[in-house]
Amino acid sequence: MDRPAPTPVSFQLGEIAVFRIKETLGKAFPPSFLLPDMDREVLREHAAWLVPSHYDPAADRFVMGTHSWVLRTSRHTILIDTCIGNQKHRPGRPGFNMLDLPYLQRLADVGLAVEDIDMVFCTHMHVDHVGWNTRLLDGRWVPTFPRAKYLYSRREFEWMKGNAERAPDSEDAALYNDSIGPIAAAGQAVIVDDGHEIEPGITLELAAGHTPGSMVMRVQSGQGRAALIGDICHHPLQVFYPDWNSGFCEDAQGARATRKRVLASVASDGGLLMPAHFGAPHAVRVKAKGDRFEIPF
Ligand SMILES: [Zn+2]
Repeated sequence: MDRPAPTPVSFQLGEIAVFRIKETLGKAFPPSFLLPDMDREVLREHAAWLVPSHYDPAADRFVMGTHSWVLRTSRHTILIDTCIGNQKHRPGRPGFNMLDLPYLQRLADVGLAVEDIDMVFCTHMHVDHVGWNTRLLDGRWVPTFPRAKYLYSRREFEWMKGNAERAPDSEDAALYNDSIGPIAAAGQAVIVDDGHEIEPGITLELAAGHTPGSMVMRVQSGQGRAALIGDICHHPLQVFYPDWNSGFCEDAQGARATRKRVLASVASDGGLLMPAHFGAPHAVRVKAKGDRFEIPF
């Protein structure tokens, strides 16, 4: 599913160096599977920017990826969202099952060793956001980033832990046991709530809907502004049509309300929207247009 190896994105946001660490990129979900509310007419209407970076018409698949963002500030090196991970047993999701991808090599390619990451933040705890929390070492799942504090949204952690406890044979239990629980067991999890400040200019905000405890990271440095939104939008079409949930949104009404609130705030502060799955250019500006939004591609 991979396209030719891209150069990792690297840019400056005020005083903060930003890196994009790719895990996957390529043909992903059929549009009507990812966005069940979608009117397929928009695929033609928006074809000029959708093809080829965001939609492959021949295959009728959205083009999407999984990647982490890394922020290097004067105080911290923060890795946001840890993708799918290697060697994770995900029999119900063939595209995520038993991957063996050079994600850590790509981190090394931008000059970062696992020991350099001192903070990990998961916007939420779906399977493609917590995978590299851990790696398999001598048959045990251990924290990939040995020096890092992992910031866990309290509501999200309690929700996923509850799912795992209620249904010990479920996919959520497998996910909890190989990617979430081992961090808490190692004493590296830090439970955070709405409004948590990582350092001046970097705060976490509850953004429930897609999942009960989803959080958005707000970043401000010099003139630079950004919102790292996880899966508040899976695909750029949801910026244009913020009422369209993904098939993975847990609370339909909450997800719509949060998406509109977050997009409106990013449009008004002129910052960068940094989602978890958009195809190139992966991070975008947003402009308000009536009660919807657009991306000036
Ligand atoms: Zn996701």
